[in-house]
Amino acid sequence: MYDYLIVGAGLFGATVANKLKAKGKSVLVIEKRDHVGGNIYTETRDKIHVHVYGAHIFHTSNKEVWDYVNSFVEFNDFINSPIADFHGERYNLPFNMNTFCQLWPDVHTPEEAQAKIQKEKAAYKIVEPQNLEEQAISLVGSTIYRKLIKEYTEKQWGRSCKELPAFIIKRLPVRFEFNNNYFNDTYQGIPIGGYTLLIERMLEGIEVICNEDFLLNKEKYSNIAKRIIYTGPIDEYFDYKYGYLEYRSLKFNVRRLEMEDYQHNAVVNYTSHDVPYTRIIEHKHFENDISPVTIISEEYPDNWELGKERFYTVNNERNNDLYSRYHELAEKEENVFFGGRLGLYKYLDMDDTIIEAFELLKRLEND
Ligand code: FAD
Repeated sequence: MYDYLIVGAGLFGATVANKLKAKGKSVLVIEKRDHVGGNIYTETRDKIHVHVYGAHIFHTSNKEVWDYVNSFVEFNDFINSPIADFHGERYNLPFNMNTFCQLWPDVHTPEEAQAKIQKEKAAYKIVEPQNLEEQAISLVGSTIYRKLIKEYTEKQWGRSCKELPAFIIKRLPVRFEFNNNYFNDTYQGIPIGGYTLLIERMLEGIEVICNEDFLLNKEKYSNIAKRIIYTGPIDEYFDYKYGYLEYRSLKFNVRRLEMEDYQHNAVVNYTSHDVPYTRIIEHKHFENDISPVTIISEEYPDNWELGKERFYTVNNERNNDLYSRYHELAEKEENVFFGGRLGLYKYLDMDDTIIEAFELLKRLEND
């Protein structure tokens, strides 16, 4: 009999397992995939750390979280500075003075950029944005919307921006300074050696069984520990009793190229319709990996259906209501605790995932 069974060896499961073990608890982790790490899993190919489930950049302003991850592995000083490609025109992201000077040759100062955006916004006279298009224009004006948001967003969602609800874009950060750092956080970087190394170190000394699906062996595993922490999809746990929670999925076309450097940057977003993918990741740039070849992933948004990988939650009214009903059931489960992005049905950055795990640990201590 273990003190804890942890279902899922992603970042949430690994954090909880690591902390419980440190407290002297006996812990078993089971994972249905053939590897640990969940969606932050990285794989080494041709001496390149490949982010198998999409680009992952660790960023946080929480010192406790930063110190925690740095206690397992050293992080490099990678700063995410993506580039946008619109019909071959190149722009810096996030929207900042570099972008504005590239978009408008007559703009040189923050005042000129502000005036330009303001004039564009005013021309549309939008009071209450009725859809994503109006929301975006009311935030950043028409030029940025047309070249850098419209077609990219339509590729992401597979629908016209006029049909998409305004709430998808709550805010669009616009910086009136020359600063291409995508994130505003105090700390940022990539674990040297890849995220799998980070997770393996977190799970050191803990029993982990891969290729083991809890839901296929529920009876066996329900009696193996005093408490269960479940980080899989909450609707799947309850056998989709009320229906499916929806997600957006992604497909990656991974290519190994016989060249040293393909795009000279980790991330290039393709913001026009004529390119079918939304972005290309060139993995070697995350850690400056030295290799005579390079590996890139073309990222394609995909509709989710059962059997496909769940990537982004779709937190619209329907799904939030459905989640609340599952959450009510979850609260009634004895000695089973739900966590992680799938158990809580919400998008969590990696630092949020660790913070959520710390919160659960506090709850477990007081229970
Ligand atoms: P997961 O990683 O999904 O782990 C859950 C694990 O449980 C999985 O391994 C799964 O196989 C296992 N499991 C599920 N069901 C069962 C079962 N029945 N039995 C056994 N095992 C089971 N965050 C950032 O901070 N920076 C970024 O740059 C960033 N980029 C991202 C890019 C993309 C495309 C996406 C989708 C997310 C990104 N994130 C990023 C968020 C990051 O991926 C999450 O914070 C993190 O993966 C959450 O970890 P988790 O443990 O909750 O979930």
